Amino acid sequence: MPGVLVFTETKDGKLTKTSREALSAARKLGAGDVAAFSNERGAADDAGRYGAKKLFVASIGPYSTETYAAALEQAVAKMQPSILLLGGTSNGRDLAPRIAARLNVGVASDVDRLEWTNGKLRARRPVYSGKAFATVEVSSTPAIATTRPNAFPAEEVGGGPAEVVEIAALSIQPKAKLIETKIPEAGELTIAEADIIVSGGRGLKEAANFSLIRDLAHAIGGSVGASRATVDAGWIDHQHQVGQTGRVVSPNLYIAAGVSGAIQHLAGMSSSKHIVAINRDPEAPIFRVADLGVVGDLFKIVPALTEEVKKAKTG
Ligand SMILES: Cc1cc2nc3c(=O)[nH]c(=O)nc-3n(C[C@H](O)[C@H](O)[C@H](O)COP(=O)(O)OP(=O)(O)OC[C@H]3O[C@@H](n4cnc5c(N)ncnc54)[C@H](O)[C@@H]3O)c2cc1C
Repeated sequence: MPGVLVFTETKDGKLTKTSREALSAARKLGAGDVAAFSNERGAADDAGRYGAKKLFVASIGPYSTETYAAALEQAVAKMQPSILLLGGTSNGRDLAPRIAARLNVGVASDVDRLEWTNGKLRARRPVYSGKAFATVEVSSTPAIATTRPNAFPAEEVGGGPAEVVEIAALSIQPKAKLIETKIPEAGELTIAEADIIVSGGRGLKEAANFSLIRDLAHAIGGSVGASRATVDAGWIDHQHQVGQTGRVVSPNLYIAAGVSGAIQHLAGMSSSKHIVAINRDPEAPIFRVADLGVVGDLFKIVPALTEEVKKAKTG
């Protein structure tokens, strides 16, 4: 059986959580052997641990769409997989349609369920801002899909290092070049991969008050999220924005403070496993999706919660 090829990414030499999730999802499909693609040989150990038998390596440095698309296309040509999976990160979402267009095949994006039946890939994807689900079947070969971060569990299988297969150096001249890479502040996890997110909205009143959200996020081991209103106001960077025009997240715990819960915000977080909302307006729409709603002043509740978390950790 031709198997499944997974585009993976690394951080500090280790496979990212989204890549580990995509590898685990690939293995569970039962569509043959799993192989990974990486720009680092060092990913072989991790790739093997998460079920990859082979690792296609292209030494092409940091991400650039054109170089990576060309290298990934080579790996696809070598392996001839039935399925190509990419984690739904910025790079994965950038690469998937490009590679699909090159190969003239179909792609299902942002999927949260996958199934391989009768030689066809079936995928479930949230549509209409998360209000409904569409089940799609990709009938071309390879079938391509991007996996929603946090939707698939990452499970080690304890395999030895994946066998490394080098992809020959490419002589393409990319039209775009990387000028600068901005690393997020130390200790700040990206919201796409976080298990816990604490988000702040316009109820914070001003930029400086995001420190309340940061304090709680750091105490609880989570990332900082934000509504678009706060991003538009320049209180926080766009990379923190949750929602239709920000990131779609599915953490285990999503805490929203001073966020009204506009439909465009809900589109980005309503698939979170547990939602806690803090808002002084009992009619705020966020309460409709919350598992636990706290009606009150965030300026009292958030610091008190941070203190309790700190106490619980030390006690
Ligand atoms: C095309 C389009 C795309 C969009 N994409 C996004 C997106 O990706 N993400 C996104 O978030 N929005 C998006 N929006 C904007 C969205 O419609 C809302 O305007 C936005 O989400 C509101 O942000 P907010 O909840 O922070 O502010 P508000 O709606 O102003 O809500 C502030 C909340 O804080 C509460 N509050 C105030 N003071 C306190 C206090 N002391 N204690 C507790 N609670 C308090 C209020 O009761 C209120 O509910 C989009 C809009 C459009 C048209």
